[in-house]
Amino acid sequence: MTEYREGDRSRAICSVCGHIVSTTFALRDVPFDAGIGVVPNVLAAVCDNCGGVVAIPAQSTNAIARAHEALRG
Ligand SMILES: [Zn+2]
Repeated sequence: MTEYREGDRSRAICSVCGHIVSTTFALRDVPFDAGIGVVPNVLAAVCDNCGGVVAIPAQSTNAIARAHEALRG
């Protein structure tokens, strides 16, 4: 598994821009899929065009899962 760090660059399809964009990895507050809160400081691929979160790398989904479990107790 590739480990990404803040400032790494990649390319991904942005759902807002509607095409392939260059992205920069940065720490963002990412909402849970269930929409019941956000996970702070998650490494995400951020669209260079619109600033939206385009993708969450696997290493961050693990952190989100842990935060989700902590939230539920
Ligand atoms: Zn975009």
